[in-house]
Amino acid sequence: MVFFNKKHKCEEDGKKFDTYNELIEHARKIHHYTILKCNRCGKQFYHEKDRLHHVREEHGKEMDARSHKNEHKHKKEDRSQKGTSAQEQVNSHAKNLDKF
Ligand SMILES: [Zn+2]
Ligand SMILES: [Zn+2]
Repeated sequence: MVFFNKKHKCEEDGKKFDTYNELIEHARKIHHYTILKCNRCGKQFYHEKDRLHHVREEHGKEMDARSHKNEHKHKKEDRSQKGTSAQEQVNSHAKNLDKF
């Protein structure tokens, strides 16, 4: 059985690595690449397109479900400005009147 384990190749110098993480470490240390991280699971990536692919493949469904969840959430970030508390009170009061 032939092992084609070293499938992660450095694009800069053609060095091959067993694991993607090794390639990333190499790219970061030797070539000073900026390593991208998946902001959902912390997995590291060599290229932005790899990260995007991973996010789409691994978290795409999750994200979809979440975005649907968020639609049902109450918006708490209505306040765009500070120091308009009086106006806010009037507004919320008006909203309440509207509702009832
Ligand atoms: Zn290299
Ligand atoms: Zn991830």
